[in-house]
Amino acid sequence: MTETAKDRYEQVAASVAEITHNAGRTTEDVTIVAVSKTVGLEEVAQAIEGGANNFGENRPDELMKKADAFPDCTWHFIGNIQSRRIKDIVGRASLIHSLYEKKHAEKINAVAAEMGIVQDVLLEVNVSGEESKSGISPDETKELLFFCESLPHLRVRGLMTMAPRNNRQGEIDTFSGLSNLRSELWSLLPVEQAQDFTELSMGMSEDWPVAIEEGATLVRIGRAIFSEDF
Ligand SMILES: *Cc1c(COP(=O)(O)O)cnc(C)c1O
Repeated sequence: MTETAKDRYEQVAASVAEITHNAGRTTEDVTIVAVSKTVGLEEVAQAIEGGANNFGENRPDELMKKADAFPDCTWHFIGNIQSRRIKDIVGRASLIHSLYEKKHAEKINAVAAEMGIVQDVLLEVNVSGEESKSGISPDETKELLFFCESLPHLRVRGLMTMAPRNNRQGEIDTFSGLSNLRSELWSLLPVEQAQDFTELSMGMSEDWPVAIEEGATLVRIGRAIFSEDF
């Protein structure tokens, strides 16, 4: 019998639980975001059968299609933000992981205000400094954080990053760097804002175990769940 997304999700979930436990953390501390950007509704349904309930998409059209088909799941937007598509993302995505521009923060705030909601976001940080990666530099994060905290319809839940590929030390440095930055910024926030600023979205199919050891609370896993030849 061929493996399906259900089988692979079950295997990934078991490995995540084991690594989380070995890192001295509890399974409730780590949420698996199944990144379904390369697959259709059928594979999403299979992953749900395997226990998945958080999904990530990087394109507004796919987010709309899948979030509307599976409204009981929690949907995450992890892709590049375009101003004109913000209206399609706000509200549909429970959490936007990839905010790093003030102008987008303002627009998300305005759309959320119109809808009468508060939108949860993460700030995307380019910890490794690689040119190919998007995100704000660690040095600039404090200013963006305080700017976002001044917008009443945004709630900043934490930080997100991507590590360099195929470079174990780079992964460790990137993930521990994000964790340290979160702690530093957390200590500067007023209590009510600090208590919401707890999330670290880091780790993908190839590096999630390192990310969990470094404190990830959200791991974004695509190919290990949805690809037949990962
Ligand atoms: C595609 C993607 C992922 C998942 O990557 P895999 O290597 O397939 O696990 C995670 N995060 C972001 C931002 C992505 O675009």
